[in-house]
Amino acid sequence: SEIEIAFRFCSSPVIAITGTNGKTTTTVLTGEIFKNAGFDAKVCGNVGLAFSEVADELNENSVVILEVSSFQLNDIEEFKPKVSVMLNVAPDHIDWHGSFGNYLGAKLNITGNQDGSDLAVINYDDIILRDAVEGKMKKSYFSIKENLKRTGISKGSFIEEGKIIYFDDEKNIYEEIMRADEINIRGNHNLYNSLASIISARAFEIKSEIIRDTLKSFAGVEHRIEFVREINGIRFYNDSKATNIDSLIVALESFEGNIVLILGGREKGNDYTRVDELVRKKVKVIIAVGETGGKIFGHFSNYVKTLKADSFKDAVEKSYEAASAGDVVLLSPACKSFDMFDSYEHRGKEFKRIVLEL
Ligand code: ADP
Repeated sequence: SEIEIAFRFCSSPVIAITGTNGKTTTTVLTGEIFKNAGFDAKVCGNVGLAFSEVADELNENSVVILEVSSFQLNDIEEFKPKVSVMLNVAPDHIDWHGSFGNYLGAKLNITGNQDGSDLAVINYDDIILRDAVEGKMKKSYFSIKENLKRTGISKGSFIEEGKIIYFDDEKNIYEEIMRADEINIRGNHNLYNSLASIISARAFEIKSEIIRDTLKSFAGVEHRIEFVREINGIRFYNDSKATNIDSLIVALESFEGNIVLILGGREKGNDYTRVDELVRKKVKVIIAVGETGGKIFGHFSNYVKTLKADSFKDAVEKSYEAASAGDVVLLSPACKSFDMFDSYEHRGKEFKRIVLEL
């Protein structure tokens, strides 16, 4: 595959990041930390630039921060990252890989050539991954649920009394990086992404002050729970990348409540009952828009105030009218964009344009 070819020309260490969800966020965040630490960080792979576009532009200060998908990992032979990061695995792309086992196998290829001088960074809370990664490489784990020091693991990052701890028994390191609530990007999913980035950064001995400063200021990646603007105490967030129910759940879990939610677009077979409990708890008003607006109205209007919008612009304007100071207007549509837009990026940009004009 393309990453295999590029790797053969690459003279710099590679940090390769994979997972079902969170790849782009973790890749961009890791890149920011490395840039702030003075590295020539080449952020590439599945995010903007191809690996092969940067492979001949490297110098001794370069580090390649590479987002890799299961497709790209399927056909590697010698690809051997210095650090491999595995965020999570959930059934995805099974149509292409044939089975969950094949999909997991492709993801695990990321560690397949690693040896004792390399590091695998593994989500301890993902039970499948925790048990699946084997080999001679060093292993570092991250968890937001367990105190890893008490599990017998020798390296990793976890949360203790709200503080992010990084430890490495071999090097006699046990340090507090920062408080978890100082991280600028929202939600537990982003806490996982942050812990993974911290471990990669510490593997290159980046100082915790630089990590902390970056995490305090990193605003996230465009269209992923991206803060747009506050008007009269109402905060607007663009989560246009949320094209399915799983992403909607992650977004709703990231806010305390008082949400005016813009929902709808194109979908096949979304099961909205999966969000009923969260919607009851956190959502004040739903604005239903797009091709699937009728289905959304039919489902939610039984128990939460639901308004139908005639157009996307109308949806944004109705959301503003429905919200009051202290509320959050969240575009997290749980649907694809193709009924009204070219792409989720197009939808997100349009949302921001309309919000900035309000
Ligand atoms: P990817 O590149 O893997 O698609 P992104 O960073 O673009 O991941 O995030 C896409 C969506 O996935 C986010 O909007 C969010 O809903 C969800 N997400 C991000 N990180 C995680 C995570 N660590 N665990 C679960 N879901 C996540």
